[in-house]
Amino acid sequence: MPQYADIVLPLAQPAYTFAVPEGLTLREGQAVAVRFGPRNKFCTGIVWRLHERRPDFPRIKSVQRILYDEPLLSAPQRRLWEWIASYYMCSVGEVMRCALPSLMKPSGDTEEEFSEEEFRPRMESYVSLAPELGNEEAFHEVCERLERRAPRQYEALLEIASAGDETRISTGEVARRLLQADSTVLHTLERKGLIRRTEHERTVERGGSTFRLPQLSPHQQQALDTLRAQFAAGRSTALLQGITGSGKTEIYIHLIAEVLARGGDVLLLVPEIALTAQLIERMERIFGSRVTAYHSKLTNRRRTETYLRLSRSQGGEFVVGVRSSIFLPLKHLQLIVVDEEHDASYKQADPAPRYNARDCAVVMARLTGGRTLLGSATPSLESWSNAASGKYGKAVLNERYGEARLPVVYISDTLRAARRGERHAHFNKLLLDKIGETLQRGEQVMLFQNRRGFSPYVECTECGWTARCPNCNVTLTYHKSGRKLVCHYCGHTEEVPAKCPSCRVTDVVPVGFGTEKIEEEIARIFPEARVARLDRDSVTSERAFNAIIDDFAARRTDILVGTQMITKGFDFAGVSLVGILNADNLLNNPDFRAAERAFQLMMQVSGRAGRRGDGGEVVIQTGDPTNPVIRQVATGDYEAMVRTQLAERQQFFYPPYARLTSLTLRHRDPETLRSGVMELAQRLRARFGRRVLGPMAPPVDRIRGEYLVGLLLKIESGASSARARELLGAELKSFSENPACRAITVVVDVDPQ
Ligand code: ADP
Ligand code: ZN
Ligand code: ZN
Repeated sequence: MPQYADIVLPLAQPAYTFAVPEGLTLREGQAVAVRFGPRNKFCTGIVWRLHERRPDFPRIKSVQRILYDEPLLSAPQRRLWEWIASYYMCSVGEVMRCALPSLMKPSGDTEEEFSEEEFRPRMESYVSLAPELGNEEAFHEVCERLERRAPRQYEALLEIASAGDETRISTGEVARRLLQADSTVLHTLERKGLIRRTEHERTVERGGSTFRLPQLSPHQQQALDTLRAQFAAGRSTALLQGITGSGKTEIYIHLIAEVLARGGDVLLLVPEIALTAQLIERMERIFGSRVTAYHSKLTNRRRTETYLRLSRSQGGEFVVGVRSSIFLPLKHLQLIVVDEEHDASYKQADPAPRYNARDCAVVMARLTGGRTLLGSATPSLESWSNAASGKYGKAVLNERYGEARLPVVYISDTLRAARRGERHAHFNKLLLDKIGETLQRGEQVMLFQNRRGFSPYVECTECGWTARCPNCNVTLTYHKSGRKLVCHYCGHTEEVPAKCPSCRVTDVVPVGFGTEKIEEEIARIFPEARVARLDRDSVTSERAFNAIIDDFAARRTDILVGTQMITKGFDFAGVSLVGILNADNLLNNPDFRAAERAFQLMMQVSGRAGRRGDGGEVVIQTGDPTNPVIRQVATGDYEAMVRTQLAERQQFFYPPYARLTSLTLRHRDPETLRSGVMELAQRLRARFGRRVLGPMAPPVDRIRGEYLVGLLLKIESGASSARARELLGAELKSFSENPACRAITVVVDVDPQ
């Protein structure tokens, strides 16, 4: 019997060794209660390793007790947590903090407090016939008696008996909630000893394995065969590059069905669940109750129930979820599909672990011996390169399914329109004409503007004063509803000043425009059109979100104005026109991925147009109509975008040619921060030479009252990233031990997005 257990606690610290008390049999991956820290608090830990090696500290605490019978993590999952901790430079405890639903990690000062917080599954009443009635003769005898004297009891008894199978007497259990019979009647039957009642955890009804699969087109079939062959030949990851509307989802469905039919588990990762409600519905139409959704809109209780249920499952599970579903305990995981693999929301920015779920999916396939499929119309340059170099398999779908054709794209020059007097509010005449025609035909319009709010900021026309956040170095965004100025970094909100606080001469006026302003203007220009807006401000809840989407899908609204939110995954048959209000602020981001992102986003928005029948139209408004990225969007030329961008990345040494690690240092006092960052930069330069860039001011260099400064480490893709992390880790450790620097927070972000 192993006498010691290394236990991972939800902290930014390494695992601690505890003694295993006599009589307690632990298994790796199991959750346990331990007492920890100077105050001996009760907290939850995961048994990481069992061994015989006595640690060399004098007082070794003991494990208190086991929390759930089943281990919460399988062996490959433990390896995944370890990989994440090592690759993203955090502790396994921080991975635990993020991976387990909060209700599964009780803690408390006392045993009582701890137990109070412990998760208790909701119990449910089940009813079954008394065993004696399983005998046909006995059953009929009772029935006859009741039929005359107590018809309601008779009906209830029949209902229970036929609950399992119509033709025979069922002695199985039926959930109380599924019965028509009321509780008084059931009570009486129970008192008479004719039925039994038990309490246990609600079980989920699982669907069968006959799925109605779509018939694939020859092209789709070819892509599917290619992927199958590559997987069969031992490739663990493949890329499915297919234009919007080509039927990538249909191919996923076929691969998913195969795995489920063999009893394996499948995970389908999607960028943002609220945005993919349609995808879940579509999956449910095919896979029925097999589908388990997992996302941030679920209650804590629901997430915990799902986690525990999966940890006990025998396989055949199908989870559709956001990035954190990579942590669900699917023990028979054979396939992970990452839809829209290029999407930046797969990367967790804050807090640690700053992981990318897409990359974790690729690693997970290796750990489980399963397969990972990355799907996108516009793959990230990293994945595209991995496929090009033969590291990943690849299949391509380059035509839309059925009659649907790709939309026609018009580039509309904003400056030229303004010169000719053909610009009204924020619309060029071309876009307004197209909107008018589309509405005339009874079809729908989507308008994309990547800024929410009414306008980006307010300005004094006299002295140029702008409203800025007192805590962050950014301008405040003007929201017309309520006439508020809001900081999109810290949430700080204030009233719009009546007079300019600086010169006190004039009113301040809104400058630039956001979704709210577009909504107002378009409603004014087309008073008969029904206009709705979809962005973070209008979507206050899942219900609000669904209402907006349902109205648009049912054509109760004609024009939908929105941010990024409208770009993903939607399939609205009535949309034949998409307008991109201002392509320039997408292209002018100070980020090496700006061009790639702008291309992906514009392609994705454009892809919403003309998904049925005879194509659609897209109008891109820009002040820079000859910009190569705009031209590449207009011709849908992904390969051209890749070629120009890869050349630039190579020249300036960015991913996929280099791996980036960004370091952000934070402190309230700018002087302490400055000397700290100089010190760290110097240390790193001694190790990494010219691979270190900075110190540099990040786009926003003050947030919530703290100053920020950055360093960037660029390591050649061919070099050992493990070695680089090791060296970096050692430098960061001695930096944090330096008394002058200890108070500085250092955030390490590996592969920043
Ligand atoms: P993608 O995921 O590549 O954007 P989808 O899978 O959403 O494409 O397909 C676009 C549309 O075409 C959807 O409405 C889908 O139902 C339909 N479609 C695609 N392939 C088929 C098929 N083989 N049979 C029936 N409908 C299909
Ligand atoms: Zn702020
Ligand atoms: Zn002023």
